[in-house]
Amino acid sequence: MAKLIVSDLDVKDKKVLIRVDFNVPIKDGVIGDDNRIVAALPTIQYVIDNGGKAILLSHLGRIKTEEDKAKLSLRPVAERLSELLKKPVTFVPATRGKELEDAIANLKDGDVLVMENTRFEDLDGKKESKNDPELGKYWASLGDLFVNDAFGTAHRAHASNVGISSNMPQAAAGFLMEKEIKFLGDAVENPRHPFVAILGGAKVSDKIGVISNLIKRADKIIVGGGMTYTFYAAKGLTTGKSLVETDKIDLAKQIMAEAGDKLVLPVDNVVATEFANDAPHKVVEGNIPDGYMALDIGPKAIADFKAVLADAKTVVWNGPMGVFEMPNYAEGTLEIGKALGELTDATTIIGGGDSTAAAKQLGIAPKITHISTGGGASLEYLEGKELPGIAAITNK
Ligand code: ADP
Ligand code: MG
Repeated sequence: MAKLIVSDLDVKDKKVLIRVDFNVPIKDGVIGDDNRIVAALPTIQYVIDNGGKAILLSHLGRIKTEEDKAKLSLRPVAERLSELLKKPVTFVPATRGKELEDAIANLKDGDVLVMENTRFEDLDGKKESKNDPELGKYWASLGDLFVNDAFGTAHRAHASNVGISSNMPQAAAGFLMEKEIKFLGDAVENPRHPFVAILGGAKVSDKIGVISNLIKRADKIIVGGGMTYTFYAAKGLTTGKSLVETDKIDLAKQIMAEAGDKLVLPVDNVVATEFANDAPHKVVEGNIPDGYMALDIGPKAIADFKAVLADAKTVVWNGPMGVFEMPNYAEGTLEIGKALGELTDATTIIGGGDSTAAAKQLGIAPKITHISTGGGASLEYLEGKELPGIAAITNK
């Protein structure tokens, strides 16, 4: 369903509350990767270019104790935002009260204000994370319009997204949210075929919902990485010391029966005696021998997967093909990533923190159609779930 977008709003002279996702890695006040701040710029820029007053809300990390507050202030983020926008940004070290209200009252058209980490409200009864009704209502009262651009939080119903939305006559999506919904939505509902999903990573339990949903929609589902060996166990192959979730073997059997030849598993693997880069390792086909654990897909599997990808028109990739953090087990992930980068006539989508890191390491990121900013949110979207943060945005 089409959503109301920030560009549908008349923001001139208006106080525009914008929920952004500024949940960036931060250590000793230094921002590790400002991608998420950069990704929020188009919406903020649109609002201020059109004469609105931008009031930004975001969470940062998890606040469990008073001490967490010092480490997780949004002040450094506001400073970085000011550099990126090339204009002053007002930072208010509060999530409510007179100082905040006065600062908002003093805003001029085109000004930008960042309030303190919304999760500071979690110290007192998890008001933000449990969507306390008073808090959502209070934050809504601070603005005239509400724009939600925080896709990374869309799978949670918190006060700063769903709470504000439900206390406003309308809620619009920001440009980042619009882009995420467009690419992930098209992939799930209206993909160009052949549609191939590549799922990897450590745990079957994280991705089982995605596999179940995509069986009906995808032409092929490639499974690699640590989740492979639960499927091996389901097939009756030996798994050695590999990662196997025994309580998911029956589910894996069901999925294989339902998926038939849509499901593509690696025929060979790189196996090692220990979970260590320099452990003795070799390539084996089929059964994983006693005393060995599979840590990467093998060369035949890489060739098979590349053949499946060759004529794909839509590809969704979530989860590495092996323990790519260790150079000896990175080949599968790197080769699949490269193959994705070479698909020129396909819509390619990457979700998940580790897969995104692998794509960046490879330098293929610019060749990918869409890299999702939301790990958990993108998985739940691919599972076909309705995300509360998106549901709360007004339909057009
Ligand atoms: P993403 O963040 O892209 O969603 P995940 O978090 O699900 O990916 O999985 C990434 C992790 O899976 C990596 O740390 C990687 O080392 C691990 N992994 C991949 N293959 C294996 C394997 N065969 N055995 C153990 N761990 C694996
Ligand atoms: Mg991960």
